[in-house]
Amino acid sequence: MINSNVHTHTDFCDGSCSMEDMVKAAVGRGMDTLGFSFHSFTPFDASYCIRDRSAYLSELERLRRKYEGEICLLDGVELDLYGQRPSGCDFSIGSVHYLKEGGEYYPVDLSEESFRTAVREVYGGDFYAAAERYYEEVAELAADIVPDIYGHFDLITRFNRGGRLFDENSPRYMRAALAAADSLPRGAVAEVNLGRLFKGEGGAYPSDELIKALAARGCRFMLSSDAHCTAALGFAFAEECARLKTLGIKSVVRYKGGTLCEEGL
Ligand SMILES: [Zn+2]
Ligand SMILES: [Zn+2]
Repeated sequence: MINSNVHTHTDFCDGSCSMEDMVKAAVGRGMDTLGFSFHSFTPFDASYCIRDRSAYLSELERLRRKYEGEICLLDGVELDLYGQRPSGCDFSIGSVHYLKEGGEYYPVDLSEESFRTAVREVYGGDFYAAAERYYEEVAELAADIVPDIYGHFDLITRFNRGGRLFDENSPRYMRAALAAADSLPRGAVAEVNLGRLFKGEGGAYPSDELIKALAARGCRFMLSSDAHCTAALGFAFAEECARLKTLGIKSVVRYKGGTLCEEGL
């Protein structure tokens, strides 16, 4: 069992539970390490970002003292490619959430309707063109930010359940995704993100094909709840380990305290 999660949102950004409720849930599930990953501030869309970082840091210190000896709490950040980049965090998750075109930012994961509208208006309805732009941005993330962890590598498939928007096996889509995979540094940590699975709206990210492609390029994997509430913490970790094994993955990495370590599957 993987006893840690470092992709955790709280009511300091767009999560629905308090930091302390998340800590209690993690302790209750036997986790030894919990990392908070507030959304870095994106000036063009403040709706989901951290509002009061100093209050967050005070609460983190209080919880570290209160739960010392029970669980290690890490101060992390989910950096958006176009967001601010706070320094001094214990770890960073790098993510692409927007397609930037002509000075405008179009979210890829807000709602299916808004995504469809953006693709219609910006790319003339060509979902593959949207995917090509998305993966260009993933490559920019790798070149520019070099985060500790790459978040939801194929978030562009957020609303593509059953392939209803585009074919994830098509050469055009795979060409774009593999070019982004090629841009990741060797040994990069890609998260296996369970957020969508928890919501019952599709599988974990990345897809089977992309996990195999990333593994072939030397990537390592980290299970990640992308939790916005206590129920999501550690959800389906065991099942996901089983999927990874069927794909030939032999180990994952995780934070144990502040140290990244490898665990066999
Ligand atoms: Zn994200
Ligand atoms: Zn997140």
